[in-house]
Amino acid sequence: MRSLDDLLAEGVSGRRVLVRADLNVPLDRSTPSPRISDDGRIRASLPTVQALRNGGARVVVAAHLGRPKGAPDPQFSLAPVAARLGELLGTDVPLASDVAGDDARAKVAALGDGDVLLLENVRFEAAETSKDDAERGELADRLAALADVYVDDAFGAVHRKHASVYDVALRLPHAAGRLVATELDVLTRLTTDPERPYVVVLGGSKVSDKLAVIEALLPKVDRLLVGGGMCFTFLAAQGHGVGSSLLEADQVDTCRRLLAEAGNRIVLPVDVVAASAFSADAEVSVVDVDAIPDDRMGLDVGPRTVEVFGRELGGARTVFWNGPMGVFELVPFQAGTRGVAAAVAAVAGLSVVGGGDSAAAVRTLGLDEAAYGHISTGGGASLEYLEGRELPGLAVLAQDGAA
Ligand code: ADP
Ligand code: MG
Repeated sequence: MRSLDDLLAEGVSGRRVLVRADLNVPLDRSTPSPRISDDGRIRASLPTVQALRNGGARVVVAAHLGRPKGAPDPQFSLAPVAARLGELLGTDVPLASDVAGDDARAKVAALGDGDVLLLENVRFEAAETSKDDAERGELADRLAALADVYVDDAFGAVHRKHASVYDVALRLPHAAGRLVATELDVLTRLTTDPERPYVVVLGGSKVSDKLAVIEALLPKVDRLLVGGGMCFTFLAAQGHGVGSSLLEADQVDTCRRLLAEAGNRIVLPVDVVAASAFSADAEVSVVDVDAIPDDRMGLDVGPRTVEVFGRELGGARTVFWNGPMGVFELVPFQAGTRGVAAAVAAVAGLSVVGGGDSAAAVRTLGLDEAAYGHISTGGGASLEYLEGRELPGLAVLAQDGAA
């Protein structure tokens, strides 16, 4: 895989470089114009863009935001991202009004050395995420025509076989950006002979999303701590009533088998914060997991669970944490995530936080980012990497670049 430094050594002055970045930031839509509630992904993209500018490249950035339905939708415009990127770079970053159409072509032609242009949300083109190679190829042709070289720095999207991630790399000489290189370096340390004890903490909402990674990690970890919405399918598998908590009934058997295989390596909550409704002003009480009332839902792990998880984390030398322990977006259900986040931050060895919501939780709950070994920008991508799956966006970078 060619690195950004290889590309810089070759010289990028005056060359048009298409950078696929992951700028998929959370937006607060409660104000008239949407406000970026966490700009971590934009900041993580700066080193690559800045290095290319310093080398005199004409930088064309492609990115997605949210899940528009394959057509332009002002709600999902990258306009707020262009503004923030410009602020952070200290330069004006114009936004093309299309992805790879007339306006993009005109604005690329107007770029000077060291300038930066952001293309509009690539998912405004249905072809971006199409399963049809020819449809993606047509978009990739138009994207490739905007540049001389392609740099993939969108670690959060490398598990997607999308036009701007995969197909365009088949059409241009390419290199991996700094963020992709850093992420790979850390994930390699997690998968190659991690220092023990190796503890993985998983939370978040859907157990079905994370069963594959649990299967893959179970033989490798010393402890797997399970919190978040997904713990209730495991608790149900142990025979507990879970009230109206999140439950994936069709996964209960799988969870029961995993628990049997894992022995004491899977650690589940001992208490939860049970609420009368999914709301910040619900009635709440802390209950043991064998006493969740039928009409209550567990929206966070309880304080004794934080202690139990904290003890496991206290002795760990390698930790990977993905998925909040509770509905941290609502104040009454933040304590579990905050407690576990603090315990992960205190780990003496390598601590890695992966996942968009987990990383956002670390920042919005006011924890010190510097206390973690690494905060990954990619949730799905890091999980698939840890599962040992081939990631299309990385595989294509490893192939020889087109001349
Ligand atoms: P990440 O983005 O870090 O990979 P996920 O997307 O898997 O994490 O999960 C994050 C979501 O899980 C959050 O929006 C959070 O509110 C939700 N969540 C956590 N615990 C619960 C719970 N007990 N019930 C419902 N949702 C939960
Ligand atoms: Mg998420």
